[in-house]
Amino acid sequence: MKQKVGIMGATGMVGQRFIMALQNHPWFELSVLMASSNSAGKKYRDAAKWYLKDEIPPGVSDMVVEEINKKVAEKYGLDIVFSAIPAEIARDVEASFAENIAVFSNTSTYRMDKDIPLLVPEVNPEHLGIIELQKKNRGWNGFIVTNPNCSTAGLVVPLKPIMDNYGIKSINVATMQALSGAGYDGVPSMAILDNIIPFIKNEEDKMESEPQKILGKLEHGVFKNAEFEAFASCNRVAVLDGHTEAAFVSTEKDFDIEDLKKKLRDFQGEPQKLGLPTAPKPAIIVLDKDDRPQPRLDRDLGGGMAVSVGRIRKKKEKSLKFVCLSHNTIRGAAGASVLNAELAYKKKLL
Ligand code: NAP
Repeated sequence: MKQKVGIMGATGMVGQRFIMALQNHPWFELSVLMASSNSAGKKYRDAAKWYLKDEIPPGVSDMVVEEINKKVAEKYGLDIVFSAIPAEIARDVEASFAENIAVFSNTSTYRMDKDIPLLVPEVNPEHLGIIELQKKNRGWNGFIVTNPNCSTAGLVVPLKPIMDNYGIKSINVATMQALSGAGYDGVPSMAILDNIIPFIKNEEDKMESEPQKILGKLEHGVFKNAEFEAFASCNRVAVLDGHTEAAFVSTEKDFDIEDLKKKLRDFQGEPQKLGLPTAPKPAIIVLDKDDRPQPRLDRDLGGGMAVSVGRIRKKKEKSLKFVCLSHNTIRGAAGASVLNAELAYKKKLL
């Protein structure tokens, strides 16, 4: 029998991607859509500002939106809830659901907590091992698993084989982030057209701390962060979807550039090995053309779940430059959460 799932924040940019990711899913069945009191009681098609190219799926269009409340989980017999709500309201809301069911969250609220996994299945699947302790600590029957900030999500996938093979001393990264990353009402058109905004609130702090947790180890119930330093400069650009990042990595060991490209090309994480339903194959797509990756051309590779990497250059000994691109509302948000839930399901945690 399929797991019954709900979406909190179903009317938003990430919520819409959840709806698409869950269509015809082999393990999960979409049972309820939740949003704010403004949307509650309305048919989904009247409540959502639908921005995707594909139509609202027929079975979803007429669903009546529920107001977010833990009683909804009981009413619909949910096993899982996916969360795409503003961080300011997530602490109490997500905890109330986790009392009984599994919560897979996009919000930043719980990401850095000591007993919460910040999961990227290709990078740190073993971090799911904290869940037992989390349930005990918090007295929950369910649990919370988070996925990272949308720029971190794309960066850590290529960093994993680089760290495993050459070690990482430090990372500098400049992002060029899409408008959908700010939500539907995020950036006014008068501010962004013909423009770049060199500031995204709280983004640099997340990019400078989340990679170390994700690339760190879980040892005896304690997360031991990776020890490299990270420096980020985050920019909003007039692109609809797809975050592009220029990364500069100082490695511990020297590398041969062709070997390093091969390591990226050959990389397989646990989702690829386990054949999880939405796992991209391959996880990393290395592009050799000088002018790639580009958001318009490459963001949908691997169903929006692959990370494309190009402009891979060696500046000098132990000094690497590359550009990576990932779809921010799929690999960086809804798709990431669904992949997390697939891994948890496969590991029999649900
Ligand atoms: P969004 O388009 O603004 O959507 C927000 C959703 O939350 C809507 O469904 C909205 O419902 C609901 N909501 C807002 N205020 C609420 C309240 N007080 N009570 C209950 N529900 C409320 O935002 P988004 O871009 O989808 O982002 C959602 C979350 O995911 C945020 O925490 C964001 O930081 C995170 N995230 C986003 C991205 C991305 O690329 N966009 C990536 C990673 C993580 P109504 O329509 O009824 O107002």
